[in-house]
Amino acid sequence: PSSPHTAHIALLPASVVNRIAAGEVVQRPSSVAKELLENSLDANATTIDITLKQGGLALLSIRDDGHGVRSSDLPLLCTRHATSKLLSYEALERGEVGTFGFRGEALASASHVAHVSIVTRHAADANTLTEAGVDMAYTTAYRDGEMEAAPRSIPWPHEHATGTTINVENIFYNTPQRRAAMRSHAEEASRVLQVCMAYASGRPGVGISVRKEGAASFDLHTTPDLTARAAIRRVYGGDVADCLLDVRCVTEVSAADHAATATQPSSVMPEGGNDDDDAMQFRADGFITSSEYRGKRSNFVLFVNDRLVESAALKRAVESVHASTCGLQGKHSKPFCLLKLTLPPEHVDVNVSPTKREVAFLHHNAIAMRVASAVEEAMLQSNARRLYEPRQ
Ligand code: ADP
Ligand code: MG
Repeated sequence: PSSPHTAHIALLPASVVNRIAAGEVVQRPSSVAKELLENSLDANATTIDITLKQGGLALLSIRDDGHGVRSSDLPLLCTRHATSKLLSYEALERGEVGTFGFRGEALASASHVAHVSIVTRHAADANTLTEAGVDMAYTTAYRDGEMEAAPRSIPWPHEHATGTTINVENIFYNTPQRRAAMRSHAEEASRVLQVCMAYASGRPGVGISVRKEGAASFDLHTTPDLTARAAIRRVYGGDVADCLLDVRCVTEVSAADHAATATQPSSVMPEGGNDDDDAMQFRADGFITSSEYRGKRSNFVLFVNDRLVESAALKRAVESVHASTCGLQGKHSKPFCLLKLTLPPEHVDVNVSPTKREVAFLHHNAIAMRVASAVEEAMLQSNARRLYEPRQ
């Protein structure tokens, strides 16, 4: 780089700004898959089908039976900060945004690093028929935030009344360094699959399928009728499902709990600033495999208020209590754990990272402790049951 003392300050061209910003939201095919899945869920879809070509690098196509996009909204679809979801910043602060999306950034970002196209049919357009008298849908394509041509009407190819297909092609075609940093097609596909598996099991009531283009069989296939346990069985297999214990806890945490656990550094949210009323209700529901499960790798799937997120602190707490409880029986098993935390939305900040992969919430460590004890309790109970009720 040239010396900072020789150059004048100048604004970056918009195209550079947009591409840099897009790179933060779109890190790889799996981050696109997560955003598109969440858009489909926001559109109340119950069936979501994903097709991948070259691990999503050549094509990531997602089709849903959600409410669709009005043809008149198509010009703004990939415009940065254009959204149908967020009305005011206050609504976001108060936790009133009940959708995954709220920033209008995902599709815009995708269009700055890939070729985006859409086929959609919205109820408002649903009475329209083509000249041949068949149901009509709209299609168009986007590049760098802009719609490339006016939407064209085409025959609607699906059985659902409304819905949307979004295709993201040639990701990182214009950012060669990013493209070169991608792993093998198999690895990228497996990351996409992991996101889809998590939502397929954490969101019963929604059926999700994933397949590679041209492949005869699905890599993942769930239907909307499955219970939570049945979905886990379908997605993660019988070995996991046969060993599942229920984890449940409904309780309240406060700053006092936090002080008790303050020896661990709180990495996430500075706790303070609302001393007056800081006690917080929360609940955790989910499953963990018992010490009978012969897992070699642990798998921790976490939802906070229905959003798939990561929390190193919570994962560590659960894994460590699981290991010590297994240890009591002389067993060494790594857990599968799926947990859904429900917190007052006004205490959850989903806006801390561009990918929304991390969230900050109040009393993070205290919650991790409580969840860990719920896990311990579930495991100890099941150990005791096995001890007194030998298996037939
Ligand atoms: P956000 O989700 O934050 O609003 P996105 O860029 O992900 O931003 O999407 C922009 C807009 O496009 C959404 O607000 C929504 O109105 C529309 N949209 C995107 N995907 C779908 C879909 N699958 N079904 C219906 N509408 C969609
Ligand atoms: Mg979105």
